[in-house]
Amino acid sequence: ADGTPLLRLQNVESAYGPIKAIRGVSLQVQRGEIAAVLGSNGAGKTTILKTISGIIDPRRGSIEFQGANITANDPAAIVRRGLVHVPEGREVFALLSVRDNLLMGAYTRSDADAVARDLEAVYGYFPILKERAAQDAGLLSGGQQQMLAISRALMASPELILLDEPSLGLSPKLTKEIFEIVVRINRERGTTILLVEQNANMALNASDYGYVLENGRIVMEDSCERLREKDDIKEFYLGMK
Ligand code: ATP
Repeated sequence: ADGTPLLRLQNVESAYGPIKAIRGVSLQVQRGEIAAVLGSNGAGKTTILKTISGIIDPRRGSIEFQGANITANDPAAIVRRGLVHVPEGREVFALLSVRDNLLMGAYTRSDADAVARDLEAVYGYFPILKERAAQDAGLLSGGQQQMLAISRALMASPELILLDEPSLGLSPKLTKEIFEIVVRINRERGTTILLVEQNANMALNASDYGYVLENGRIVMEDSCERLREKDDIKEFYLGMK
């Protein structure tokens, strides 16, 4: 409300040994919006999210969340602040039930009534998870596992969800369904979302603001409405001429 972005990265650099994966990334996410980072395979999208959530320590630069410096904080502390990462490939607990996976997402919370309400809310967004609540998560389809991973993040009652490539491995139809629910979650719960995607079409339609990442650098940013009209975007990311 005071104009401070919910999340701010300034000049962040991260590397794997000698390989610089992101090279001075600055970006902001405003409270209540969906922001997207677009880029092709290997552009550094996953590395940005891992750096924000504390899995990788940046070599340079700073990360602020809700006005506090969280640069290189450990991942558990970042989750407790209300910033939750849904990793690429979902990473659900295959041998735990769907319901127990969801409750794992709430492990930092002690408000049992609110947790129970959020569990019902999650089942409202994804009714299939209620049907499968007692089954092992490993038996879910890829799309259902993506639903579970998003839902598990919601169970932490986060301010900000980092969503890595939600369309990965999913059919166009399922991808569309997942994106529609992500938008509903954002609108109905006010959860801010930063997603990274190779599927520029989906990401640009769902998001408010977008960044284009190439070789570890942001090369363009604008409202998604304007990005969709740019010739470079149409040609390289939307496959239009
Ligand atoms: P993808 O969609 O494939 O995940 P991406 O845009 O998310 O692509 P990153 O995974 O962030 O890209 O990778 C950025 C760069 O860092 C790439 O050149 C990649 O090869 C390299 N990289 C990623 N992970 C590692 C690692 N664990 N060790 C060494 N290099 C890595």
